[in-house]
Amino acid sequence: MNTKLTACSRRTGRRTVNFERKIFVSEAARPLRVAVIGAGPAGIYTADILTKSEEVRTGAVEVAIDIFDRYPAPFGLIRYGVAPDHPRIKGIITALHKVLDRGDIRFFGNVEYGKDLTLADLREHYDAIIFATGAIFDAPLNIKGIDLDGSYGAADFVSWYDGHPDYPRTWPLEAEQVAVLGNGNVALDVSRILSKHADDLLVTEIPDNVYEGLKASPVTDVHVFGRRGPAQMKFTPLELRELAHSRDVDIVLYEEDFQFDAASEEAMEKNAQTKVMMKTLRGWLEDQKTNEQTASRRLHLHFLQSPHEILGEDGKVVGLRMERNKLDGNGGIIGTGEYVDYPVQAVYRAIGYFGSELPEIGYDDKRGVITNVEGRVVDENGEVVPGLYASGWIKRGPVGLIGSTKSDALETITHLLEDRENLYTAPEPEAEAFSAYLDSKGIKYTTWEGWHRLDDHEKALGAASKDAAGEPRARVKVVDRDEMVNISRGE
Ligand code: NAP
Repeated sequence: MNTKLTACSRRTGRRTVNFERKIFVSEAARPLRVAVIGAGPAGIYTADILTKSEEVRTGAVEVAIDIFDRYPAPFGLIRYGVAPDHPRIKGIITALHKVLDRGDIRFFGNVEYGKDLTLADLREHYDAIIFATGAIFDAPLNIKGIDLDGSYGAADFVSWYDGHPDYPRTWPLEAEQVAVLGNGNVALDVSRILSKHADDLLVTEIPDNVYEGLKASPVTDVHVFGRRGPAQMKFTPLELRELAHSRDVDIVLYEEDFQFDAASEEAMEKNAQTKVMMKTLRGWLEDQKTNEQTASRRLHLHFLQSPHEILGEDGKVVGLRMERNKLDGNGGIIGTGEYVDYPVQAVYRAIGYFGSELPEIGYDDKRGVITNVEGRVVDENGEVVPGLYASGWIKRGPVGLIGSTKSDALETITHLLEDRENLYTAPEPEAEAFSAYLDSKGIKYTTWEGWHRLDDHEKALGAASKDAAGEPRARVKVVDRDEMVNISRGE
């Protein structure tokens, strides 16, 4: 096999190390070995798009792809980020399942980059490494009182109700009045789950501990706050409309929030989604004027208010101070200096997700993404780091779901294939080398066959329990990490 040496730079910690990479030139001699870190939609679609690329389909390039996840089960955000009462979106799992069921992409679960694996470990076994680790934490909100008991990040609550293995089994649902900050779809998910009656969630796959927690919740009022106006909501029409489908929950709107500037008029005229959502809101406003609201729970939609301070007593949330805003004419806002206090006992901030830094990989701490140019990882000097790529939310930030994830993955894969001449670097490319390596380190990894075992087990748990109508449930999720690993490994 021909080899050549090229000068490269790699970032380790905060330093950039210059080194020489040995390039094994002969493409045809062996498959290009690719590791994908993260088995959520971004990771699986990226792997799938690589296998379906023209180069691979025509046999010009052979690839061997391994996909890793730190959780014992695959599907990332779809399993641990999508609300359980969104079966349509959860249905994406079916498509992702089909990709991994083909058998040409291997899955290694319960293996964490930075803990079980270093970059050097991966470099040893793979020619290219694609990071698709997503953005799973809450964006910070720096206001007084944010650290009080009763102030939560929406992403943490989502992880709890989705049965994330690394979250506590109980969630403090003691508040009657709750505030949710943000006007995106996560705010809608969180406020819908908080306000729904737990029995109505039994048709979903919620774990037993989540059902018990929600069942005991004394909540009566959930207040959702947007800092801009109704015409600047980041909700999507279907998700907004769905709020009205919750049984025994009234939607409450406030006429004074329906203020529009020139930019709002333009948005309502030109943006089809805004137009549809305004129609929905106006319909609810009319309805509320003519029909008495008698539900035992209420979901209030407030606009033009920014969080100013979370009010506390004895370390606990007792209220939320919001500043009223007015529109600035361009779709932005100006604070009015007028404050309104809401007597809430819990505040959830749903103001966006944020990606975490990965060891030895360049990170933009303002945007919470891996430093990259169109999916090629770059170091702090903007130099491309050979063999490293990014895809999904950790590449572009936490916006959009499946459609943008696919086009984003295509861009990354296009660049990887353009670079392929220089990628054949892993000195130990045998197919079984990596599983042997994990075994040698005592890492209890799970596999695709293991996912089938866990999947069957969760379906059997569902079949053995009943929803509120007495019907068998489709699935009940296993939450405990060790239990997930043991079931997957057949131990
Ligand atoms: P998002 O759509 O970006 O919404 C974030 C919201 O937080 C915006 O209303 C934003 O207001 C507000 N915000 C940001 N900083 C704030 C601050 N300091 N104070 C008050 N409000 C603040 O983010 P997301 O809801 O986390 O959703 C992430 C992505 O996942 C989106 O693409 C979303 O559609 C998608 N998703 C989809 C579904 C679904 O069911 N289809 C479910 C969940 C998530 P401004 O607009 O004024 O910045």
